[in-house]
Amino acid sequence: MLTRRQRERYARQMVIPQVGEAGQEKLLSSRVLVVGLGGLGSPAAYYLAAAGVGVLGLADGDSVSESNLHRQIVHGASTVGLNKTVSAAIRLRDLNPDIEIRTHPEHLTPFNATDIIGDYEVVLSCLDSMEARYMLNDACVASRKPLVEGGVMRFSGLVTTIIPGSGPCYRCIFPQVPATPTMSPAEAGIVGPVPGVIGSVQAMEALKIVLGTGDLLVGRLLLVDLMDGSFREVKVSRDASCPACGAL
Ligand SMILES: [Zn+2]
Repeated sequence: MLTRRQRERYARQMVIPQVGEAGQEKLLSSRVLVVGLGGLGSPAAYYLAAAGVGVLGLADGDSVSESNLHRQIVHGASTVGLNKTVSAAIRLRDLNPDIEIRTHPEHLTPFNATDIIGDYEVVLSCLDSMEARYMLNDACVASRKPLVEGGVMRFSGLVTTIIPGSGPCYRCIFPQVPATPTMSPAEAGIVGPVPGVIGSVQAMEALKIVLGTGDLLVGRLLLVDLMDGSFREVKVSRDASCPACGAL
């Protein structure tokens, strides 16, 4: 049963038939993990906390720096130097004291990933390292966890949703880890609205998974270019010989 205060807080989304009171109760009993509290994780975690995801996990081993603030909007001048999960938790607990924020102030590795993601029903990949992205894909596939993948560079970004066993995983779509390391945001540059859009789409995918409604971006790679203002979609399919999900 929702409290009077919860009914008021969530009124504008509960009025939508696809959410309703039953959907809000699903959200409040859901557990979602955001891995990476940078440009993508900032808007994603913001909207998930605001929507009333009951347990919101935050995982990141980095600390907030001044050069993050133009795009990593969950942080602020007063939290420069703090671990990003600690910084984000301060902001998100103020935004919504109704939910539980769990911090995992460490980088996910092949040794801790399975344990950490085990507590959650949906995982968001909001990373900027290719190695970490493949590692998280493999851990989610092995644990059969839905994973919402996002990536950005300069003015463009992509999103896809991975439901292990029922659509392609990240390795099916991008079989090769790039031989030459892709450029980091520090090298390539990034403008804030790009991860703002992509991270928001990731949050919406997670809400749809929890609510069990809508058409997920499974088998679909959404490509966004905000310099030419285009959104387009590429169909992607499973690779039967995929080393991560081929045996599922
Ligand atoms: Zn695969």
